[in-house]
Amino acid sequence: MKTIIKKLDRTKLEQDESKAIIAQAGRILREGGLVAFPTETVYGLGADGLNEAAAGKIYAAKGRPSDNPLIIHIASMEALGRIAVEIPEAAVTVAQKYWPGPLTMIFQKTDEVPYGTTGGLETVAVRMPCDKTAQAVILAGGGYIAAPSANTSGRPSPTKAEHVKEDLEGRIDMIVDGGAAGIGVESTILDMTVTPPMILRPGAITREMLRELIGDVSVDQTLITSDSSKPPKAPGMKYRHYAPKAELTIVEGGLLDVISAINQITGEKSGAGYRVGIIGTDETIDKYRGGIIKSIGTRQDEDTIASHLYEILREFDSEEVDYIFSESFPAGGIGSAVMNRLLKAAGHHVIEARPHVAEVK
Ligand code: AMP
Ligand code: MG
Repeated sequence: MKTIIKKLDRTKLEQDESKAIIAQAGRILREGGLVAFPTETVYGLGADGLNEAAAGKIYAAKGRPSDNPLIIHIASMEALGRIAVEIPEAAVTVAQKYWPGPLTMIFQKTDEVPYGTTGGLETVAVRMPCDKTAQAVILAGGGYIAAPSANTSGRPSPTKAEHVKEDLEGRIDMIVDGGAAGIGVESTILDMTVTPPMILRPGAITREMLRELIGDVSVDQTLITSDSSKPPKAPGMKYRHYAPKAELTIVEGGLLDVISAINQITGEKSGAGYRVGIIGTDETIDKYRGGIIKSIGTRQDEDTIASHLYEILREFDSEEVDYIFSESFPAGGIGSAVMNRLLKAAGHHVIEARPHVAEVK
């Protein structure tokens, strides 16, 4: 299959050129095809979420396990009633504040939603993105677009069209290239079918923000501990995710101890002939003495760290390093989402740095 790739300026959607690209994407989606498009979180791989055969193509293109359900993207509150029932008052409150935006809510599904979209579940995950290009593609495609991240299953999610191309060129009908996605980590997932509502995946809309709005909000325990015997409530979270090809290790501890531990291990690994990548920050990169050193962003602004996380993992893939060592980041705000993705990418491989000694936990 030849993948059509069209560049579009997301600040100029009113131009005829942009409108033609959106219309073409819409036609492909309505005919049951696959279109990747930018959202404010990461690039999504869209298909008509109410068409079981179309949704099925997403699983095939990504190599996604069939029990990992898809999120249906809508562009208006009115669209919700066709796919979801038993919408609690708290969900309306949350929607009024955070929709459109980087938040997904889970509801009981209607008969209109095929099991092929929900991975066999009676519930449906719904998001209303705030990105204008995403909204235009959703509307042009019929209003109900199932869209997981547009990467090969297991790889780091795509934050740029080039990442989508790398993984899916030749396997999907079209890529709408609108530049960098933005936030860089996937939406918060909030399960509204349980009381109190439960966060199944942390994202830019944090537990603190939700608690302030609707009171008690719980967090799936499997997100907090790595060794829980219980399966995660969001089926997708049980799979290895976001993983680079190299072995990734997160080094925790005081920042100076972390730096010296990474320097020590990098020295050992490099001495043994391995290629080592280091994930540092603007504040620390000049303190590393070997390896391939990259800054993920600044500690002054955690949003910069979130937006470069997947990109840096993909860059290390292209550089064919054998090992990657990453600093860890504080868990407040979007930091929880960053650490959740980083821990999954690392297969929960964490080292605790002590002054001048690295000890395996
Ligand atoms: P992705 O779009 O690739 O970021 O993955 C979507 C995530 O949403 C996966 O982790 C799914 O397990 C989760 N998800 C989608 N629908 C449901 C649902 N009905 N119940 C629980 N989790 C869901
Ligand atoms: Mg994904």
